[in-house]
Amino acid sequence: MTFELSERVQTVPPSGIRRFFEIAEERDDVISLGVGEPDFATPWAARDAAIASLEQGKTSYTANRGKRELREAIAAYVGDRFDLGYAPDEEIIVTAGASEAVDLAFRAFVDPGDTAAIAQPSYISYEPGVIFAGGEVLSVPTTREDDFRLTADGLEQAGADEADMLVLCYPNNPTGAIMTEADLEPIAEFAREHDLTVLSDEIYAELTYEGEHTSIATLEGMRERTIVFNGFSKAHAMTGLRLGYALGPPEAIGAMNKIHQYTMLSAPTTAQYAALEALESCENDVREMVAQYDRRRQFVLSRFREIGMDVFEANGAFYCFPEVPEGFTAEEFAEEVLREQGVAVVPGDVFGEGGEGHLRVSYATGLEDLRKALARIEAFVEEHA
Ligand code: PMP
Repeated sequence: MTFELSERVQTVPPSGIRRFFEIAEERDDVISLGVGEPDFATPWAARDAAIASLEQGKTSYTANRGKRELREAIAAYVGDRFDLGYAPDEEIIVTAGASEAVDLAFRAFVDPGDTAAIAQPSYISYEPGVIFAGGEVLSVPTTREDDFRLTADGLEQAGADEADMLVLCYPNNPTGAIMTEADLEPIAEFAREHDLTVLSDEIYAELTYEGEHTSIATLEGMRERTIVFNGFSKAHAMTGLRLGYALGPPEAIGAMNKIHQYTMLSAPTTAQYAALEALESCENDVREMVAQYDRRRQFVLSRFREIGMDVFEANGAFYCFPEVPEGFTAEEFAEEVLREQGVAVVPGDVFGEGGEGHLRVSYATGLEDLRKALARIEAFVEEHA
């Protein structure tokens, strides 16, 4: 027999970067600048807390929304760091990674036929998430001219006034762009004017190298229409522990919790102990990792400029987004530099409209490897461009 796959599943194409992994496997000297996760291990204090919780046999489910103590710690943390005020009882839900939180939001707020406007290029999970929930996607491209920041003009031109929700990700994966308060104001105004729900993925908030991160939820009239996503994968180097959270008004978080309590019950318990400790005692570890990312960022940006590849001053996350030299598509460049020089980068097209002609280069890799990889890219460009 053959399975009858749902139309929704069939509509979504497989991930565009799989082919690159296959090529990468053909060589054993590949340096990967293709990854989207920290190269650091989880800070020891957080690992110790996880180990201790296991030794003490703390292996049961927690409250659906997450351990109360952890929600209190999250409330204090987002208040201190980002000026966000959310109540532990009703306005915070702890999830299996920010990924689960994003998925819950789409399922809680999207009806069939609803449209989600997505500022692109962006993280690859939003579009499938909307489609799995039965909605439709409206791409809102951002451009190099605007340093990949979203503008009200861009929203207008894409027809986002007709959309039901807007998905934002700043600091951005894949471009490394950030949005300052002044950049966010007109976006907030647009959202208020056209009554859009805003889903704001702020998982890279700590990884902001110029100024401080501003959450769109702190702007006037935005708290009541925004869900903020964050988590421990990036800043606390905890990807494999799978822990994230969403912040929002009680009604919205309650709806997300309704789905979560049936599908997930509760986020991983061991990871919740690690996360609590991460918030309580790992601030210096985070500062140290951020300082290292920043050194790498400056190195990579200056090397691309030396090589003669146009790159804008990416100020957040751990990616930069150089333009490929003339004569190449992004995909050609990525494939050839991988085959000839053994450097893996991701073509920008994979991340949606606006990404064409660019490469996502991750610097979540040690300086030694970054040095080697950039020398190989330089050799490749000298030979071909
Ligand atoms: N959002 C963005 C923008 C990401 O880059 C990632 C991870 N690559 C996620 C969410 C998923 O994070 P988590 O590990 O918390 O599910």
